[in-house]
Amino acid sequence: MPTAVTDSANSADRQLFGCIEAGGTKFVAGIVRGTGEIIETARFDTGEPEATISATITWLQGAAARHGALAAVGIASFGPVELDYSAANWGFITRTTKQGWSNTDFAARVSRQTGVPTGFDTDVAGAGLAEARWGAARGQKISIYITIGTGIGGAAIVAGQPLTGLNHSEMGHIRLARHPDDHAFDGVCPFHGDCLEGLASGPAILARWGASLSDLPADHPGRAIIAYYLAQLVVTLQAIMEPGRIVLGGGVMGTPGLLDLVQREAERLGGGYFRGTAEQVVVLPGLGDRAGLLGGLALALDRLATG
Ligand code: ZN
Repeated sequence: MPTAVTDSANSADRQLFGCIEAGGTKFVAGIVRGTGEIIETARFDTGEPEATISATITWLQGAAARHGALAAVGIASFGPVELDYSAANWGFITRTTKQGWSNTDFAARVSRQTGVPTGFDTDVAGAGLAEARWGAARGQKISIYITIGTGIGGAAIVAGQPLTGLNHSEMGHIRLARHPDDHAFDGVCPFHGDCLEGLASGPAILARWGASLSDLPADHPGRAIIAYYLAQLVVTLQAIMEPGRIVLGGGVMGTPGLLDLVQREAERLGGGYFRGTAEQVVVLPGLGDRAGLLGGLALALDRLATG
């Protein structure tokens, strides 16, 4: 558990924060102290937006009544989301494939109804921030968090902040060279077919082999194929910015031995060219299932600090 979220002289250590990890299947809300201590949590199924967001806000308000006033709220949400603070739809979930959720007012509503400043970013950026501050990517000038699950998303944390251009990164949609034994499959991305997400996400694995990667036999060729694609992402990111750590999270990375395969393949594809070896750079998350709420905490702390 992080114990030094902020300088010990900083009053944020003692303050309480409302943290929301908003996922496509469940919302987790929590009251978290500035030190990272998780005081109370609740879970809600992700149903209709109105009911789900309303239940989460009501819980936060009740929890604040039990534990003390909140200094700020932080939301790490499934996306895509609008991050431009000057935009009229800042804090909205925008054009999502999640039924009923497109164009949903989320963070601004939470801020209005709780009455406190609200930080907002993608779930991937939140987890990336938490891993960079308190987890597997601590102390790195540049680190990248990738989740490989229902979708594939990534966030680069540069000098302590998620790298944002016109909007957040969409690293899951890079194009790849196909594995020689994987030419028959068209890919599942509705926009690109055989981009990384189209080839290596959980649904892509299920679509061509009928089971999750961890449920396939240990000698199934699917593992080498997925490792080949993930290794291409790794060396692409190394070529662009030589991150100190690339943290690979999400359900697919729970496959035994997959990290090792990705490291070896990335080292082979990289040809020993990059400063960091794949074994040093490519790691699993350090915060486990706390990364979501602690991502919310990082966003809440930053929002409070920037005013
Ligand atoms: Zn795509």
